[in-house]
Amino acid sequence: MSSLQAPRGTFDVLPPDGRRRLRLIKLAEQILGRAGYEYFAAPVFEDTELFARGVGEATDIVQKEMFTFEDKAGRSLTLRPEATAGVCRAYVEHGMHKLAQPVKLWCWGPFFRHEAPQAGRYRQFTQLDVEALGSDDPSVDAELILLLAEFLERAGVAGTRLRISSLGTAESRREYADELRAYLREHEDELSSDVRERLDANPLRAFDSDHEGTRVVMRTAPVLIERLDPDDAAHFEEVKSLLDDAGLGYEVDHTLVRGLDYYTRTVFEFESERLGAQRGVGGGGRYDRLVEELGGPATPANGWAAGIERILLATGEPAADDSRPVYVAIAKPEAEREAFRIARELRAGGLRTEMEQAGRSIKGQFKHADRIRARATVIVGDGIEVKDMDSGEQRPAGDAAEVLRLVGE
Ligand code: AMP
Repeated sequence: MSSLQAPRGTFDVLPPDGRRRLRLIKLAEQILGRAGYEYFAAPVFEDTELFARGVGEATDIVQKEMFTFEDKAGRSLTLRPEATAGVCRAYVEHGMHKLAQPVKLWCWGPFFRHEAPQAGRYRQFTQLDVEALGSDDPSVDAELILLLAEFLERAGVAGTRLRISSLGTAESRREYADELRAYLREHEDELSSDVRERLDANPLRAFDSDHEGTRVVMRTAPVLIERLDPDDAAHFEEVKSLLDDAGLGYEVDHTLVRGLDYYTRTVFEFESERLGAQRGVGGGGRYDRLVEELGGPATPANGWAAGIERILLATGEPAADDSRPVYVAIAKPEAEREAFRIARELRAGGLRTEMEQAGRSIKGQFKHADRIRARATVIVGDGIEVKDMDSGEQRPAGDAAEVLRLVGE
């Protein structure tokens, strides 16, 4: 019989990794809570139509990467590939435009994309997602970028690089794409064949090409951020100036094109040079039209998502856990209940406590205490003794309260 394994592109979270994840959740809660963001959760699956309309029919995500299935009534459902569409759906469904604006939310959980698995790219992965809906103020853009920078720094992600750009509005982008297409047509002979093939559908992709001839052509190509409407350009200037004031370094990269259709104005991405090909640790931007496109009132909005697995890869080995447990050993079988009761009382007193639960000999129990790096062992037999595992000193204790006094910090 062949043994069962987790599906391709998925993984189990085992204990040391689990602890690191919990630490990141606490860090997120602290950093985001202080800035007024509230925890939020949406379902892991939604109607397929939400992503088709919200993420964009023409995107790679919708065309190739969704895990879509039918329920028993024949409705098409999809495991969420990203968070923003679901957040906007909830904003409209619950009439959140009636609340004080902006509505600031964060969530954490699994996301699903049918991609070719490799290091840092999975079919089920975890995102921390942060959204602010209901304000077009550039300070919200800058605040979100600074919050992600702080989260990455305090999580211990080294060597980050921040790229930012502005995509303007859908209209200015369309006019610009026409201009770029016309420019590329004038230079068609010098372009690589795949850029030529995608010239109609996505001329912006030409900026990503490694082909030497194409790169030469792109050096003098028209640039979107020089074609922004005055309002969009002023908005971008203000975002940059707030980042400058905060002392956060960034590069303006006019080739930054994110893989989702809904972005307007500010877009940004953080990479870590510690990672290989999949080096994007988090990114996002403004999506001023999305809530309206999903049937809500006109609502400017803004957000980002950070990939937790990539953050864990970029932060290297976990620091050793410094909270060492107290271990309750059982010196004779009749003492088992007493040991169980003492362990409960030590836990109630706030101590991390483990007890013997594997039928080991007393010698085996001391070996186990060393293995789990216990700082003290409470030996329950005819009486109670407390052994300090570092000094080796052993003292009697009358009851659990005295044990607590002896081993409590
Ligand atoms: P995106 O929604 O594509 O902007 O992704 C936001 C972040 O999620 C990225 O910067 C990555 O860190 C992470 N991410 C996206 N796709 C995957 C994946 N397939 N596996 C692991 N992490 C991912």
